Amino acid sequence: MAGGEVGPAIGIDLGTTNSCVAVWQNDRVEIIVNDQGNRTTPSYVAFTDTERLVGDAALYQVLKNPTNSIFDAKRLIGRRFSDNIVQIDMRMWPFKVIEGVDDKPMIVVTHEGQEILFAAEEISSMVLEKMREIAEKYLDSPVKSAVITVPAYFSDSQRQATRNAGEIAGLKVMRIINEPTAAAIAYGLEQRAGWYGKRTVMVFDLGGGTLDVSLLNICSGVFETLATAGDTHLGGGDFDNRMVQFCVEEFKKKHSLDVSGNPRALGKLRNACEKAKMRLSFVSSVDIELDCLDQGTDFYLTFTRAKFEQLNMEFFNKCMEPVHKCLKDANMDISVVHDVVIAGGSSRIPKVKQLLRDLFKGKNLCESINPDEAIAYGAAVQAAILSGNGNGKLQYFTLLDVIPMSLGVARYNDVMQFVIQRNTNIPVRKNTTMYTRSDYQSKILFEVFEGESESTLYNNFLGEIMLEDIPMAPKGYPFVVCFDVDENGILKVFAEDKSTGQKKGITIMSE
Ligand code: AMP
Repeated sequence: MAGGEVGPAIGIDLGTTNSCVAVWQNDRVEIIVNDQGNRTTPSYVAFTDTERLVGDAALYQVLKNPTNSIFDAKRLIGRRFSDNIVQIDMRMWPFKVIEGVDDKPMIVVTHEGQEILFAAEEISSMVLEKMREIAEKYLDSPVKSAVITVPAYFSDSQRQATRNAGEIAGLKVMRIINEPTAAAIAYGLEQRAGWYGKRTVMVFDLGGGTLDVSLLNICSGVFETLATAGDTHLGGGDFDNRMVQFCVEEFKKKHSLDVSGNPRALGKLRNACEKAKMRLSFVSSVDIELDCLDQGTDFYLTFTRAKFEQLNMEFFNKCMEPVHKCLKDANMDISVVHDVVIAGGSSRIPKVKQLLRDLFKGKNLCESINPDEAIAYGAAVQAAILSGNGNGKLQYFTLLDVIPMSLGVARYNDVMQFVIQRNTNIPVRKNTTMYTRSDYQSKILFEVFEGESESTLYNNFLGEIMLEDIPMAPKGYPFVVCFDVDENGILKVFAEDKSTGQKKGITIMSE
């Protein structure tokens, strides 16, 4: 059993489409299979008249229960209902999301005949609970602690909400770590760097619906994220859609039948296309056969890898853009990158790998670990270190991450006063001084924002602090505002009147 003083500690990759759990045991990482024998578990939760289903069981019944089958909770977690991203994503979901208290998005489901509202972190907690149960069954022991991964670009509120989800699931969340950091740990790249050397690593993570690209430095066993870029709506689902569109056209051409308005037929096609796509990563052609697709007519098509690539070439090229952006943000050239790590199920696609290799001038990719498991693998290593369950090989690890978005406070006229710049290493603490703008001002409001715009109108509002009863003084009376980001990326802001000692602070919570 993998157990130190605090018992076994697991690593969980809580994904948008799939999740994966791993544990350090017998001096190595084990990826834990679920009750269906699968190494990853769909991040799906479904509600029926009689039960709640999580994982594969929830995914299997999606077609017949679309409005009560919840997925993509990771796209909602820690966000506001009015957030533009939420408003756009909502249009794509078959389930209902409404505005809750304080602009919090709430998912509406019918369960056992009753309408119930869930916050995204509650849905994520059900997925995490499932991952914990999978681990407990495998380890034959209760599991209380975990390291959970999040995208490097996650904001404070998204990290905090993910931590809350873990706690609702009954887990002590030892650390929230960035997914690319976990992937680099999985490859033990610090060992390649050696104790005094330095290594620059690009992590390319292409999943079912998202692409995340990150550039890391590893030096003396320390991982430092230099820059992140990506596309929150680009991944395997898009490639499946292109294949489905093509099949619909072929079926129309051959049989004069249009299934574009037939959800059952489209669902069947989607499943078949995804399976075909996965096989096309290893073979050059695949037959798709579907009996009675529409009005008793069967569908038959041979899909070649060449056709698949032609249909998706535009997407594959788009996948390379964040790689350039990331290097540009870090002010680095391709030639300085020592290792390119691939993660996410879609990074198995040969064309994607070829484009990456070409871009990095023929460099071999780090691909020996299953790409959909690399992040959970690294999280399990980190969990072992933090719980004291790792062996000597692991004991010198430390992790340095960066904040994904600049942080600041609003000045007069909505001007953003930057306090901590994007990509600064965490933990970090920085101060700025703010002044009253009027004579004899009795109170002062500090509004905290994250984002890159010079105007706070275009940045994300995180919270505010009001100091009252400030001494009568002419304008220009000073206050110190301190920003403190801990090793989990969680932000605390304090405002202090140094002359009276009055001090107030906020922790940026998901609510
Ligand atoms: P992830 O979000 O990392 O779990 O990745 C899920 C995505 O990877 C889905 O869109 C899958 O269809 C895709 N995927 C998994 N295996 C393969 C494969 N062998 N070839 C191409 N895509 C794959």
